[in-house]
Amino acid sequence: MTAHVKPKALENFKARDFRMLIDGTWTEGAGQPIERIAPGHGIVVSRYPAGSKADAERAIAAARKAFDDGPWPSMTGAERSNILLKAADLIAARADELAFLDCIESGKPISQAKGELGGAVDIWRYAAALARDLHGESYNTLGDGTLGVVLREAIGVVSIITPWNFPFLIVSQKLPFALAAGCTTVVKPSELTSGSTLVLGEILIEAGVPAGVINIVTGTGPEVGAPMTTHPDVDMVSFTGSTGVGRLTMANAAQTLKKVSLELGGKNPQIVFPDADLDAFIDAAVFGAYFNAGECCNAGSRLILHTSIAADVTARIADLAKKVKVGDPLDPTTQVGAIITPQHLAKIGAYVDGAAKAGALVALGGAALDLGLGQFMAPTILSGVRPDMAVAREEVFGPVLSVLTFETTEEAIRIANAIDYGLSAGVWSRDFDTCLTIGRKVRAGTIWMNTFMDGASELPFGGYRQSGLGRELGRHAVEDYTETKTLNMHIGARTGWWMPR
Ligand code: NDP
Repeated sequence: MTAHVKPKALENFKARDFRMLIDGTWTEGAGQPIERIAPGHGIVVSRYPAGSKADAERAIAAARKAFDDGPWPSMTGAERSNILLKAADLIAARADELAFLDCIESGKPISQAKGELGGAVDIWRYAAALARDLHGESYNTLGDGTLGVVLREAIGVVSIITPWNFPFLIVSQKLPFALAAGCTTVVKPSELTSGSTLVLGEILIEAGVPAGVINIVTGTGPEVGAPMTTHPDVDMVSFTGSTGVGRLTMANAAQTLKKVSLELGGKNPQIVFPDADLDAFIDAAVFGAYFNAGECCNAGSRLILHTSIAADVTARIADLAKKVKVGDPLDPTTQVGAIITPQHLAKIGAYVDGAAKAGALVALGGAALDLGLGQFMAPTILSGVRPDMAVAREEVFGPVLSVLTFETTEEAIRIANAIDYGLSAGVWSRDFDTCLTIGRKVRAGTIWMNTFMDGASELPFGGYRQSGLGRELGRHAVEDYTETKTLNMHIGARTGWWMPR
């Protein structure tokens, strides 16, 4: 790990003042702006308007009008696709600026933030391609007198609510697909990391997205987010964040029966058999646990190791984890950056203390790191964790790896499934049957085999059970933002109840 003082890049740095985007106009909020203190540097780096319920309602009204009066929903797929492709090019052109904002506001390493921007550009291009391929079905099999056509229509106004852990990447998993379908949108980024989403607003306007189609309202969840989940003019809510707020979102949306799409928490196991390529696994275990400081819904936070290899493998993971470079997020060689807020750091610490009291062994780390500025946590390993401990069942959202053990394949599957979450899982074995058995029996939206946390724009992503509802990415992602409409057409003379036959 590296101690640091205020880095050179921030010596003459002035906090950036942002405005929010409502109906094509950049707007100040009424009250005091929200100040974002960089978690890795301890200084104010951004100020966003503290949007109000009234701002959210104005944005919803603008999105409603833009949907009902057009032109966005009635443009051709090719026209929308071209605008999304232009947006992708502009994102790529401003990638360094966007990555810098995500880095200083969230505390993630700059090299990682740049990688996420590359992934986001690919998603925008993929969504642009899907905009031209959105289609329904036709039934020419219903007899000479009937032709059935099933249309796909944009669902309408979509509220998009995003968290702080992948600020630009997560909005990019939702917004381009909603826009590709012809929807209009209101976006609320996390109050901690709104900068890159607001720059995205500039990009979309420059790319040619009409006023009102994209509105971005900054502020807190209860003030701005809540009305976006209850307002009768909103047709769908797409939310990523905690399972608790996801549950509240669903309950709020139920009042007007809106469609909801939820990407929530995870407690993702990696199940490891003795015949696995252990060198490859150990690297993936360290990556899975400490990437993004573990503040990751997909984090591989639970290892389920075969008892015959558990002690040796845990020691080797600890050796590698000691080499992970924790430090200044702006240093291009940093692998693990800062923890999002001091409160969150305290929550992670409480999980570690609770596990130790319950009988787990702190095999590595376990405490905060003082690097001079900001808040950091040492990569931590807890061994001897039992499936009933809180740290084995709940999302810690920090660099904390829990190690559990198993004897039989059935036991491994039972432990993997014995939690409320089902986002993702990994299995490590050179045996084809073992991998497929685990792949079919573990209840999670993604199963990695002999790899971990890989992804592609083409592959759907989402969770079973309390990890969420619906899937993002993949070729059906645009369809999520549509309604189906049946056109039932009669051909020729119609006979019926009172018509002569
Ligand atoms: P939240 O679920 O609180 O926040 C996610 C988004 O929802 C933010 O934009 C937040 O606004 C907004 N929000 C909060 N309350 C409401 C509400 N009543 N109605 C509508 N929107 C609301 O997650 P946190 O960011 O606070 O993180 C807490 C925990 O959630 C983490 O420790 C982790 O366990 C989990 N998490 C999971 C993520 C995932 O990817 N699955 C991502 C982030 C967190 P605001 O700006 O006020 O925060």
